[in-house]
Amino acid sequence: MAKEELECSFCGRKKPETSLLIAGLDAHICDRCIEQAHGIVVEESKQSGNSDLSAELMLRKPKEIKGFLEEYIIGQEFTKRVMSVAVYNHYKRLLQPPSDDDIEIQKSNIIMVGQTGTGKTLMAKTIAKMLNVPLAIVDATVLTEAGYVGEDVESILTRLLQAADYNLEKAQRGIVFIDEIDKIARKSDNPSITRDVSGEGVQQALLKLLEGTVVNVPPKGGRKHPDQKFIEVDTENILFIAGGAFDGIERVITKRLNMQAIGYSSMKTDTVDKDNILQYITPKDLKDFGLIPEIIGRLPVLTHMDPLDAKTLRAILTEPKNAIIKQYKKLFEMDDVEFTITDGALDYIVDKAIEYKLGARGLRSLCEEILTEAMFDLPGSGETKLNVTKSYAEDRLNKSTLKKLKAVS
Ligand code: ADP
Repeated sequence: MAKEELECSFCGRKKPETSLLIAGLDAHICDRCIEQAHGIVVEESKQSGNSDLSAELMLRKPKEIKGFLEEYIIGQEFTKRVMSVAVYNHYKRLLQPPSDDDIEIQKSNIIMVGQTGTGKTLMAKTIAKMLNVPLAIVDATVLTEAGYVGEDVESILTRLLQAADYNLEKAQRGIVFIDEIDKIARKSDNPSITRDVSGEGVQQALLKLLEGTVVNVPPKGGRKHPDQKFIEVDTENILFIAGGAFDGIERVITKRLNMQAIGYSSMKTDTVDKDNILQYITPKDLKDFGLIPEIIGRLPVLTHMDPLDAKTLRAILTEPKNAIIKQYKKLFEMDDVEFTITDGALDYIVDKAIEYKLGARGLRSLCEEILTEAMFDLPGSGETKLNVTKSYAEDRLNKSTLKKLKAVS
């Protein structure tokens, strides 16, 4: 056979159309077919390990789950306890062998209400890390009803499949974190007056997913069956965690508390902790805010995040396993620089984060502002020490982008 007539025995592509054609005994294979075959081998070997999945999930007791959360998350005692129990029950339900009694354990999907930057995403990430299950983080604001511009709710499952590297069984036991769930609330509590169709429509579309159903999901990029249009994903065992800031819900809660105080309630308004109104939240407040009752029913575990005070922010800087300051220490260490920071400087950073209302997210940007110059200058300079004091931190912040940070807040 003439050289140019050689072809891939798998796809029939002629030699000039390939980047590489490898000869076997009686056959040839091109670079593209090798790549595709490799993908199949990798995915098959992953699938065959599935029988060990339940062992992999490692059912930990609620106290152990909470213990794990403590390593990464500061404060948020209430949510840590609630999440530990909900996650424990969820995976207990999932690993339970079929039984003859008619008792069916319902899903324990979770909804977390708390200001932005208080650790909601971190909570979901840490749980997924502990269980070694795939996690998809999606933003409810981009979701639309089918037929509208934006992403269908099914795209949530495409993300989860991607996070699971297209291992269907793993994806079906994964976690979905839906952020900004409050943004799809109905704008008015009275549906007959101002009906916010898109928000409510998305809520309706989410219902089935939360409850447990089989959904046809476009794989978008799966290598195993490139021509396959849909993968059937069963959401029955997927744990959904929704989070949102619910700006203004404090007013709803306070109003309800005041009404109760007028009636016969044990809750007296003078014993209410006004700095943390969210702790009194009930499902009814979510309804009054604009979530439809069916959604609230399918997110039965309701919890709140406490606002972060100075003490908590200070601890976030240094205590968690991968605390921000520990990360900088490591970065400098790689350049043989010993990085230290004084208590005064840490307190100063916390004060600034509070002053600019930047929350925990701001701690990182403030540190970055303070340390960028040193991270630029020190590598290769021969310097072996950097001690950041309050006046050093003050000086750096004043010089650089105080204005920029203020603009963010
Ligand atoms: P949210 O999802 O509530 O907006 P995030 O979980 O994204 O907040 O938190 C933003 C960042 O702030 C995280 O990356 C984390 O480093 C830090 N953070 C927030 N709250 C805590 C906390 N309670 N403990 C430790 N770190 C926290």
